[in-house]
Amino acid sequence: MLNLVLFGPPGAGKGTQSANIIQKYGLIHLSTGDLLRAEINAGTSLGLEAKKLMDQGILVPDAVVIGMIENKLNENKAAAGFIFDGFPRTVAQAEALDSLLASHDLSITQMIALEVAEEELTQRLLERGKSSGRPDDQNEELIRKRVQEYTEKTAPVAGYYANQGKFTGINGVGEIEEIFDQILSIIERS
Ligand code: AMP
Repeated sequence: MLNLVLFGPPGAGKGTQSANIIQKYGLIHLSTGDLLRAEINAGTSLGLEAKKLMDQGILVPDAVVIGMIENKLNENKAAAGFIFDGFPRTVAQAEALDSLLASHDLSITQMIALEVAEEELTQRLLERGKSSGRPDDQNEELIRKRVQEYTEKTAPVAGYYANQGKFTGINGVGEIEEIFDQILSIIERS
């Protein structure tokens, strides 16, 4: 089974590359951002609470996203594998994911990190905001807050996987196809 964590700051290209990887390997895509936006659209109380934080560019509590991932793992027991996109975003989430996977006799195969400088991220997200309709992509101050949350709380997750010998970083600036080729070679040697 292939279980990948696609890692990187907001705007690094995780969603785009996830779509490419899923098409090739038939993995289940688990994006906590997408799951949270689905809760918001459905008007659930979880969605309403999460929206207050997401509108400020702040991470939602670990327990909320861990619970959502747990449900998805239980619903997809026959999957060929998973691609985690935008999760785990804290070391506590990474630890919880390891124990959830272990309870299904699974583990993370590899974390692949897309590395992109902050200035480039801001430009990409503002551009994406013109068509994505995402309120958090349309305001420069909010984008900076999201990148700050990433730097403070999420970046240390890379070290967590590096300690397990499961971290590979690649340059996330360039042609989408070239970046995808690099991802494929990492997957093939994992
Ligand atoms: P994304 O679509 O991954 O950029 O996530 C959008 C927003 O959802 C983030 O700015 C956070 O507020 C929230 N979010 C998504 N995934 C997580 C997570 N794993 N942990 C905490 N908050 C999250």
